[in-house]
Amino acid sequence: MADVHLKGIRKEYGSVLAVTDVDLKIPAGKLVCFLGPSGCGKTTLLRIIAGLESPTKGRLIVDGQDITDLPTHRRNFGMVFQSLALFGHLTVGENIAYALRVRGVDPAARRRRVEELLELVQLPGIADRHVAQLSGGQRQRVAIARALAMEPKLFLMDEPLSALDAKLREAMQIELRVLQQRLDITTVMVTHDQREAMTMADQIVVMGDSRVQQVGSPTEIYRNPANRFVADFIGTSNLLPATMKSGTGVVVDGRPVRVSDLPVGLGDGAAVTLLVRPEEMRILPPDSEGENRLPGTVAFIRDVGATVETYVDCAGVRLVAIAMRRDRPEVEPGERALVELPPGACRILAA
Ligand code: ATP
Repeated sequence: MADVHLKGIRKEYGSVLAVTDVDLKIPAGKLVCFLGPSGCGKTTLLRIIAGLESPTKGRLIVDGQDITDLPTHRRNFGMVFQSLALFGHLTVGENIAYALRVRGVDPAARRRRVEELLELVQLPGIADRHVAQLSGGQRQRVAIARALAMEPKLFLMDEPLSALDAKLREAMQIELRVLQQRLDITTVMVTHDQREAMTMADQIVVMGDSRVQQVGSPTEIYRNPANRFVADFIGTSNLLPATMKSGTGVVVDGRPVRVSDLPVGLGDGAAVTLLVRPEEMRILPPDSEGENRLPGTVAFIRDVGATVETYVDCAGVRLVAIAMRRDRPEVEPGERALVELPPGACRILAA
């Protein structure tokens, strides 16, 4: 188990800025996901931790030691990167034992370790198969077993499940998370899939525009996104243009909306964005009175089985509300409706 500290990391490739101003602590034994859209610098940051890139600026501290200049092969980190594919001409066992052989571990001990690792990734007894005979999911698991062979103190994975179909991917997310917790191994994983990050991570590092935008648990990030970028990237968001109304909340399209949790430092009349998650929003018939209700027109209803999504045009934007089937709103497309924004579910973001 290692704890990792990134201090003031910046990486430029010629004139391209890949990441900057990264100050981050990864606690021992936790699983941390770097999450963000393509090109935001996730892989670069992981490669810097792995020692496959050197930062232009900043230091990397692991267990209190500055290892910024330590070569990759001396870091003893387990890595599952797309660029580190399995050796196609070797068997599963030979792949997993590769690093053990290089380090002079004797054949009987190697064999034992391979079997142990294959048990761990739930592929017992396939050590003598050739890599070419495996499915995509089996290959990914063998790659994970290979990365764990040297009992690394830090486990790094770059989109390890990207080659899998949706169903296997979801199953593997849970398996990998359970395995990581069982081994209690500090793990950093790159993904652009927010559902994957929410499923697996203790902490999510949301990245955008070459910077860290927010660090927090999945729940914190979902409930209290730090800015519009994070709100937009994590989950589905209803974002309404609004202005501050001191002491009570905001004004949306000329109507007052009360907000329980008011931010400090935003004066009366300041332009802001109001965020409400779809599962918090209620759609009501047009004649139902009450506070925090805005008029709109139902544009579309999507019935996806367990839940019903109601799209409503309101205050110049299209909002979506998600309800369980039994709470399906009593409205139809084309009809007028009211959108209820509960004060406790409203979040104010700087515009
Ligand atoms: P993706 O999800 O698409 O892999 P990412 O978030 O992992 O994206 P990076 O691969 O870290 O992003 O790239 C960040 C930026 O640095 C991008 O603009 C990319 O084009 C640039 N970049 C990355 N590697 C190099 C390189 N070797 N030479 C030049 N530019 C690079």
